[in-house]
Amino acid sequence: MNIKNDQNLKNTKVYLVGSGIACLASAVYLEKDAGIPGENIFILEKDSKPGGALDGAGDADRGFVVRGGRMHEKHYECYWELLSFIPSLENPDISVRDESFEFNERFVSNGQARLLKDGKKLDVSSYGLSFSQQTDLIKLTFVPEKSLGNKRIEDWFDHEFFETNFWYIWTTMFAFQKWSSLAEMRRYMKRFIHLVDGLYKLGGVMRTKYNQYDSVVRPLRRYLEKRKVNFELGKEVVNIDFDLSADEKKASVLYFKDGSEIFLNKGDYVFITNGSITDSTDQGSWDTAAEVV
Ligand SMILES: Cc1cc2nc3c(=O)[nH]c(=O)nc-3n(C[C@H](O)[C@H](O)[C@H](O)COP(=O)(O)OP(=O)(O)OC[C@H]3O[C@@H](n4cnc5c(N)ncnc54)[C@H](O)[C@@H]3O)c2cc1C
Repeated sequence: MNIKNDQNLKNTKVYLVGSGIACLASAVYLEKDAGIPGENIFILEKDSKPGGALDGAGDADRGFVVRGGRMHEKHYECYWELLSFIPSLENPDISVRDESFEFNERFVSNGQARLLKDGKKLDVSSYGLSFSQQTDLIKLTFVPEKSLGNKRIEDWFDHEFFETNFWYIWTTMFAFQKWSSLAEMRRYMKRFIHLVDGLYKLGGVMRTKYNQYDSVVRPLRRYLEKRKVNFELGKEVVNIDFDLSADEKKASVLYFKDGSEIFLNKGDYVFITNGSITDSTDQGSWDTAAEVV
């Protein structure tokens, strides 16, 4: 799809389903680079706040909820590019990117107790990998992803691998289980291989100054609202009609839980970015179980 080739940008409307980082980034570039007027961009979010998985809420009495704590690193190239022109909420004279880099220069990740056993700090100066386990790891990064099919991590490594410091550090950092996808592990290995040297102390891991809702989502929302992008919160898309032809599949109607509908015109676009696992989470408390949603 090449929106720039569309002649009627002034009349083009873009509907973004979901308001996570995927959608917020899309809205920024649609307005900034593709020339879609902000007022023609509609962010349709079922929750009462934007940001999706990048949440952060609560207070000292009731407790805080952050469904995912985001580890970043220096080479999140697209992310930092996006945030390089989004003014920080606290100091609009600097970008969120610069605010984050400055913060990480002052507070360098240097975990001193990465693994504990029976309440005691473990020595993680060695990852404890045998020569053949190291070979298995390297081999994993070289084989084509296709060749892995739907293998699990435990299909690739020997039993002892899952007792090594490396595995405990890896699994607690990236939330892998033995039965998780081997292809996914391969992707993470390739993506983060430059950090492996310092993984035992969380070396190279960067954070935003506050949680990502306050440090990333709120500044993005302010930037977009200044450009007249519409945030429609509490709008859950429950169905989409498509016109199907031999070579095209075009969305024609969006249906909402509140009974409303949007009829799409020729030249309108719909982006569906309702992806991550936090979408189906619920909160419990000491005396109320979380519901399966
Ligand atoms: C526990 C955890 C830890 C993580 N740690 C890291 C990390 O350390 N580093 C890192 O880079 N990444 C991490 N991630 C991944 C990262 O947070 C996500 O990949 C990213 O935030 C997903 O953004 P998204 O826009 O694709 O989806 P989401 O943020 O999920 O946004 C989707 C949005 O769509 C909305 N929506 C869904 N259905 C509908 C509908 N029918 N109608 C309207 N709206 C709808 C949802 O309410 C939500 O707001 C972590 C994720 C989790 C869960």
